[in-house]
Amino acid sequence: MGANRHMSVDSRGRYTPEALGEAMPGSEGPTGSRTHNLLSLRRASLMQEPVLVLNATYEPINVTAVRRAMVLMLKGVAQAEEMHNTEVHSAAHAHKVPSVIRLLAYRHIPQQSRALSRKNILLRDRNTCQFCVRVFPSSELTLDHVVPRSRGGRSTWENLVACCYRCNNNKGDRTPEEAGLKLARKPRPFTLHTSRQLMRLIGHRDERWRKYLFY
Ligand SMILES: [Zn+2]
Repeated sequence: MGANRHMSVDSRGRYTPEALGEAMPGSEGPTGSRTHNLLSLRRASLMQEPVLVLNATYEPINVTAVRRAMVLMLKGVAQAEEMHNTEVHSAAHAHKVPSVIRLLAYRHIPQQSRALSRKNILLRDRNTCQFCVRVFPSSELTLDHVVPRSRGGRSTWENLVACCYRCNNNKGDRTPEEAGLKLARKPRPFTLHTSRQLMRLIGHRDERWRKYLFY
């Protein structure tokens, strides 16, 4: 394993996005297919279970899937801090399933590390229309420009909110004030604080996460 250790570390000793950037739930990176085979994945659903990712300093920084977490462990990038009681079996070995992993080298997290995307806006707003404050499935939500684009409103964290189609039609090409609508809350960039809240929501079933999430 040691031979691979420096594979995805840049010249300043930080892990590249290649190694860790895709460690968000639901996205699989192109790397590690050899390691994937190693873990002959019989229990596919278990492999998708969320795993809390801690920085070297024990600060929670992300949530990933069991499969991805085990790849990071096999590459020597992370080690398990908490385990599930279950195992997955490859041809020759039984592997314990991690619940919490920790990066072995400190990773610098930029202040605004989250990409502006529809998915992240809906995550931030917790799938709640910011005008009627009702929760919808992602497919029934759109993104609303609070200050319409026709008025110079930009596509930024501060000007985009989750919005149901009904409220979006109702608002039309107007500001909330003009349309007599009120924002549920002021839209803000997706900060580490926000992602910690999300991790807390995802991890509320797993007792092993609690001590790392400052309950
Ligand atoms: Zn609405």
